[in-house]
Amino acid sequence: MRTPIVAANWKMHGRLAMLGDYVAGFERMPEAPGVTTVICPPYPYLAAFAGRLPDLGEVGLGAQDCSDESKDGAYTGEVSAAMLADMGCGWVVVGHSERRRRFAETDARVAAKFGAAADADLTPILCVGETQDERSGGRAQSVVLAQLEAVLERVGVERLGRAAVAYEPIWAIGSGEPATPEAAQEMHHLLREAVGKRSREAGESVRIIYGGSVKPGNAADFFAEPDVDGALVGGASLDPSGFRSIAMAAAAARND
Ligand code: PEP
Repeated sequence: MRTPIVAANWKMHGRLAMLGDYVAGFERMPEAPGVTTVICPPYPYLAAFAGRLPDLGEVGLGAQDCSDESKDGAYTGEVSAAMLADMGCGWVVVGHSERRRRFAETDARVAAKFGAAADADLTPILCVGETQDERSGGRAQSVVLAQLEAVLERVGVERLGRAAVAYEPIWAIGSGEPATPEAAQEMHHLLREAVGKRSREAGESVRIIYGGSVKPGNAADFFAEPDVDGALVGGASLDPSGFRSIAMAAAAARND
């Protein structure tokens, strides 16, 4: 059985002063047994979060991005995967649509980031997803599969099987209009099949999580789908009790 992942993507939100309240809010809620919970704050707060991890219980620390360069060097502004591991991260999001679109990250660069993360023993969360135009034009599946294939080609299927893929339709991110659980399931199944064609074992092990306007009120519907192994949560993850409720919904689904 795959262990579900519920990951918080704070994006460019938060302040150091918020950390105490966040941890306190988190601690007030029951734990989510059998679920891997990951928090990805902005880079500057990773160290402070790392110091509070013992108070958070079974929570992993992640970053929202990393450099595609593995070796230290003259790359002003970049943060390597090895540095993230050094700061206590076990996870890193790569290829979030906001980075692909705003910062012109290509499939090839995202694949290089994935490889750099895996080299540093981080678990990458690879984001894939289509725009509304691509969906309306019937290209959603081919776009998402091409994003996946770029990584498979570069790093190989075994590495992908140990990582996580987040299916995040771009039109659903931050819009309050999530995909239907059935549409998410259809895409997750397709992604799992694509991995499974290369390696049955990797297809079974890869965690495929859904992202895009997941909230405490709709999370359980996604987790009821057989190929939805958790969620990547943006806006709703800034509220610790709401985020914890989403993780608890994943725990409950696991026990059903
Ligand atoms: C995200 O940023 O990855 C995301 C899914 O955001 P939201 O939950 O706010 O839609």
